[in-house]
Amino acid sequence: MADAYLDLVNTPLPGRIAKALGLPRPSVLRRYFPVEVLAPQPVLVTGAGAGADALADALLGWDVEVRRHVLPGEKLSAAVVVLDRAGTPADLAAPMLELGQAVRLLVPGGRVVGFLRSAADTTDPAEAAARQGIDGALRSVAHELRGGATANGIVLRGTTPTTDPTALGALRFFLSGRSAYVDGQFIEVTSAPAEGVADLAAANRSMSEWEGVPDQPLAGRTAVVTGAARGIGAKIAEVLARDGARVVAVDVPAAGEQLARVANDVGGTALQVDITAPDAAARILDHVGRRFGTLDIVVHNAGITRDKLLANMDASLWDSVIAVNIASQLAMNEQLLASPVFSDTGRIISLASTSGIAGNRGQSNYAASKAGVMGMVRAQAVAFDGAGRTINAVAPGFIETEMTAKIPPLTRQVARRLSSLQQGGLPVDVAETIAFLASDAAAGINGQVVRVCGQNLVGA
Ligand code: NAD
Repeated sequence: MADAYLDLVNTPLPGRIAKALGLPRPSVLRRYFPVEVLAPQPVLVTGAGAGADALADALLGWDVEVRRHVLPGEKLSAAVVVLDRAGTPADLAAPMLELGQAVRLLVPGGRVVGFLRSAADTTDPAEAAARQGIDGALRSVAHELRGGATANGIVLRGTTPTTDPTALGALRFFLSGRSAYVDGQFIEVTSAPAEGVADLAAANRSMSEWEGVPDQPLAGRTAVVTGAARGIGAKIAEVLARDGARVVAVDVPAAGEQLARVANDVGGTALQVDITAPDAAARILDHVGRRFGTLDIVVHNAGITRDKLLANMDASLWDSVIAVNIASQLAMNEQLLASPVFSDTGRIISLASTSGIAGNRGQSNYAASKAGVMGMVRAQAVAFDGAGRTINAVAPGFIETEMTAKIPPLTRQVARRLSSLQQGGLPVDVAETIAFLASDAAAGINGQVVRVCGQNLVGA
């Protein structure tokens, strides 16, 4: 469903009227295309210490023009604020105030990325206050930015350096158009095991090496996407294929025709399976094992809603949502992990939802299933820790799909504007985040829930 208001306010006269009336003025977001230039204007790297210096050097290696201080009047593609050494709240003032100068100079679709350490990794109250303070400050900056700009954070766990391959991978993701609808989010990064990063050189090659070469970080990988016949799942299949993966598109037999079309369009194979069937995992593993040998990426995307106030809920509505959205994933993961077909560096990515974070009226069954996904991901991640495999969740907010097209028009308009980016996301925004999490560049990201919600004001 197109957002006609967004199109309208991005024309001159209606744009001026909206400004005069103080109405929301969502910007057209800067989205990824395969040979995008990461930062056409200079990138500011602010903050003191070896971590900031090393990061500035790494950016130079990507052929990005780097500034260590704001030059008045010069436009910036991004501002990277490195706060990995903050020891007390007083340490935040200088770099944050410099960031304040930098955000004035950001180009439309500009980026703010913070580097910080986890408050959970210190027992010193002042240090924890500083670290948690950065979280609050950056989330506020994200609310303040306009023009389709975003602010996000990379949380270095333990002693992970700023130039860890996954930290750089996360930085590249945040700087790129791939993260267009990811705003006000923090991704935790741990030093990746070497075996999880099969192609480090590719993950960190310089911009001149990228120029004109479509980026295919998933080349040679086999990916299963459930619920791939339409909506977000179809777009995930398309983006994973664009990034080089062989895609097995899975959906219910009733969606067979649409499924075949998607599989055909992405040069993949279609597999008609109801994921709640007891033999679903066995059939998927058999299909992949016989054709490709190894399964590298599993995207648990299939999901349903059966909304009712809890007072009016019956067992069939409750049970069907739990069965599709979470029980099937638990059962499938168990069988994947017991199978030699699932790669030692395999990636599992599950679709959660902001409803599972903040709850939503009429969605107690759905929110239980989606919060369940997050619980499952965090627990499984502990078992995977450091061993090469990863599992993460992506929690979309309001995404323009057939599901959200059914929302009554007025409610839909309000829902769209209730985020810092003042618009709904597109299926491609969810798909780009999943493709990033599936790549080598994300090898040190495990057990995370990444919201793709434009910093939706979900109350959590
Ligand atoms: P959709 O209804 O458009 O597509 C879901 C697909 O899953 C359909 O093709 C359907 O046939 C398939 N499916 C359902 N049950 C299945 C089963 N038992 N076995 C195999 N396939 C099955 O939904 P969507 O909007 O594209 O959402 C995709 C995922 O993203 C879901 O998990 C949803 O909960 C989640 N999500 C969506 C939004 C949004 O705004 N659209 C927001 C948050 C989360």
